[in-house]
Amino acid sequence: MPTDQPNSDAQAPMDRLTCQQVTEAIIDYLTGDMQPETSRLFTDHLQGCPDCLAFFNTYNSTVRVARSLSYDDVPDEMCTRVRQFLLKTIAGK
Ligand SMILES: [Zn+2]
Repeated sequence: MPTDQPNSDAQAPMDRLTCQQVTEAIIDYLTGDMQPETSRLFTDHLQGCPDCLAFFNTYNSTVRVARSLSYDDVPDEMCTRVRQFLLKTIAGK
């Protein structure tokens, strides 16, 4: 019977992304490698999915900070503070 397979998703044009596809595509989105059509689906998904939006924001800010910093840019004071914080944390255990 032709109606044996009512689920015809495989042949339908892609009109939405799964959460997994979104998380895997974030790097493409940020680097500009994403197709415009995929980009639209991507942002559509983020608007309707708080989980992916939160992940995207975290990822995005992490990438931005990582790009803007190099080891040479870290001030000595920060190194000292981090070291003191770590020592205090270790000592407190
Ligand atoms: Zn999602």
